[in-house]
Amino acid sequence: MELYEKSAYELSGMLREKKCSAKEIAQSVFDRIDAVEDKTQAYITLTREIAMEQAGAVDEKLAKGEQLHPLAGIPMAVKDNICTKDVLTTCASKMLYNFVPPYDATVMEKLNACGTVMLGKTNLDEFAMGSSCERSYFKKTHNPRNLDYVPGGSSGGSAAAVAAGEAVIALGSDTGGSIRQPASYCGLVGLKPTYGSVSRYGLVAFGSSLDQIGPFARTVKDAAMLYQVLCGRDPRDATSSKRERPDFVAALDGNVKGLRIGIPVEYFGPGVDDVVKKAVFAAVDQLKAAGATVKEVSLPSTDYALSAYYIISSAEASSNLARFDGVKYGYRAPKFDGLIDMYERTRSEGFGDEVKRRIMLGTFVLSSGYYDAYYKRAKLLQHQIADEFAHCFEDCDLLITPTAPGTAFKLGENVDDPLKMYAADICTIGVNIAGLPGLSIPCAYTENNLPIGMQLIGPKFSEDLLLKVGDCFETIYGGFNTVAKI
Ligand code: GLN
Repeated sequence: MELYEKSAYELSGMLREKKCSAKEIAQSVFDRIDAVEDKTQAYITLTREIAMEQAGAVDEKLAKGEQLHPLAGIPMAVKDNICTKDVLTTCASKMLYNFVPPYDATVMEKLNACGTVMLGKTNLDEFAMGSSCERSYFKKTHNPRNLDYVPGGSSGGSAAAVAAGEAVIALGSDTGGSIRQPASYCGLVGLKPTYGSVSRYGLVAFGSSLDQIGPFARTVKDAAMLYQVLCGRDPRDATSSKRERPDFVAALDGNVKGLRIGIPVEYFGPGVDDVVKKAVFAAVDQLKAAGATVKEVSLPSTDYALSAYYIISSAEASSNLARFDGVKYGYRAPKFDGLIDMYERTRSEGFGDEVKRRIMLGTFVLSSGYYDAYYKRAKLLQHQIADEFAHCFEDCDLLITPTAPGTAFKLGENVDDPLKMYAADICTIGVNIAGLPGLSIPCAYTENNLPIGMQLIGPKFSEDLLLKVGDCFETIYGGFNTVAKI
């Protein structure tokens, strides 16, 4: 087994036992990148020099016998909507094709302090709007499990990198499913944390009341190790929670005896592929055999969640994206006639079609005359959806659903049909709307080698429980830790 195929947990142990150096690990991953990046197109920017410098610093610490953080020397990919000091951060948009942030996002400060090794910045749908990674200004990422298929989105580059062995762990962001859905399509573990548990400082805002940064990994334990660092209070993000963090790795005790699982019937309706339903039910049966109890529950407003999400997220996006005007940073139209013309040309030329669609939709639902009919009703629905989840958690510890209604689709298949593309989020957005944590883990593969993901949903701040159940299933399943064979 090559170093790039190993988990962060294994590599961390090997470093301590001096079985390899951080530089050797980084080199192994860059060799893999050189071998397969042409096929996957996972990265927008590679940061080889920074990575080798960071790895060298870890090796020096090791040589001096200094204490290392468990993530020290672990190669990591970063979604390109997370600000990295002095490293291009494009959001996969022409609008930010030249944007080099003068500061690090809080999560990057924390990870740098741990000694993680940054490999580069990964591809996404422009400004994280999309479900397939086909909406990037720069390139289309391919699914390493089957290169004719999309990796999912919007964090498709991060997911493809980890699945292909071009990174050991990665950061994504999830506003409506952008970590869990690509994790499901690429056969990975992906966690969307409770709203407020990870600082959003330095994450380029899409829907600020929904956005969260979270981990991708090939094992639940690796996701827990990364999440341990990400979460916590940040005075620079007023929405971040002051709660004490449990030890997420220690929580993985493999025990699900007495666990009460709820199965929301609405998530297994006619829109969900049979092969997905079968796989998820089979996985639930295995947890039952391990000592969990299972009952059906209902989330009656599920049908409205998609509409509420696209209204709320687009409303917030239309306001958040107003800052891209050609004045402060990023793209500016080369030719214009006065200030207003400069704004108009810059935004017309700088944004892609999907981003413009969201800005128009968001501006419309916020406009006087339509605000009550759309935005206000969507916000009311948001409360109703959150209440329905809370009601389920009165007698269930967690809920299990498919992560997506189907497996990955072919590149180009849905790109001209926005509504079909939006439907890929049907199983994930309720979680964002209600501010809950959601964990996607692989539970089966189809004959075409396409992974199927199962989603564990818990009450707010129950990440320790979700990770524990995910880890228990991983043990039953026999391990997810496989790098795609390309
Ligand atoms: N696919 C969803 C959208 O396009 C979710 C995106 C996300 O979570 N960033 O809005």
